[in-house]
Amino acid sequence: MRKPRIAFLGLGIMGGGMARRLLANGFPLTVFNRNPDKSKPFAAEGAGVAQSPREAASQADVIISMVADDIASRSLWLGEDGALAAAKPGTICIESSTVTVDWIRELAAAVQKRNCELLDAPVTGSKIHAANGELNFLVGGNPATIEKVRPVFSAMGKTVLPMGPTGSGALIKLINNFVCGVQVAALAEALAIIERSGLDRARALEVLTNGAPGSPLVKTVSARMTKPDFTPNFPLRLLAKDLGYAIREGDKLSIDLLTVTAALKEFQKAMAAGHGDKDMAAVVELFRKG
Ligand code: NAP
Repeated sequence: MRKPRIAFLGLGIMGGGMARRLLANGFPLTVFNRNPDKSKPFAAEGAGVAQSPREAASQADVIISMVADDIASRSLWLGEDGALAAAKPGTICIESSTVTVDWIRELAAAVQKRNCELLDAPVTGSKIHAANGELNFLVGGNPATIEKVRPVFSAMGKTVLPMGPTGSGALIKLINNFVCGVQVAALAEALAIIERSGLDRARALEVLTNGAPGSPLVKTVSARMTKPDFTPNFPLRLLAKDLGYAIREGDKLSIDLLTVTAALKEFQKAMAAGHGDKDMAAVVELFRKG
């Protein structure tokens, strides 16, 4: 059987790695990115380069979007020259960006009107996992549709976790990220106390990273904070976006996400101080004196 033709929209830190995995696995690929400079290298690597999401989608069996937020996703799917306008009936549309459940539901309705199918399939893992095909896909939508595109997911990830109906992938992803965001904010505060009090930093961090708080995230991010290395793996501004989205999900269920609200304030302060495009670990800089 021939491999499905894929349109990939969004070639940022994550999308760039994911699209390259599809090429490496022999999928016919057409890419689109808002800033065309990011698309150019893909032409040399064997992908088609489209001038609009609509053009990318016109020949596709599967369309994948991996962009910043609800606004970006909406513009790629439904905007002027958006992908859905050109999608053939039966196309499988995959939204892998971290977006809100409300937007996924709205998009699902628009996709259904075109006689296409939507999966919300956000990912865990970061830049290196995207580049190495080691992402975990958290997928909402019809199990039969998930099976149809399993080989596509397998080219980009190591696990595909069906989470339930449309929107459930988006919801668990926001929950996952707020637990991460609260840990990163707490770690920044811990390092602030360690550094200002004069405790032996390396020894104190050994206690934290080898003990009960030593999650994989705390281990990785504490190394970035201490080096310091704020090369963006997960840009701080995107984590702040996820915390804001998570608070809205909590509100819908009358759950006040107090720790998330506090963490978000820290990330917003860090953005105001110019750290938005750096890795989320840069939140620690708020506490360091210039
Ligand atoms: P990124 O490097 O900042 O890339 C963002 C992408 O979105 C770029 O292609 C950008 O296009 C596009 N974009 C932004 N605003 C747009 C708009 N209004 N219209 C059209 N395109 C727009 O981000 P990333 O790290 O790849 O993250 C992508 C998604 O994955 C986000 O939802 C993020 O939360 C999620 N995620 C990230 C990580 C991570 O570790 N980085 C892990 C899991 C999930 P331009 O190049 O033109 O700006």
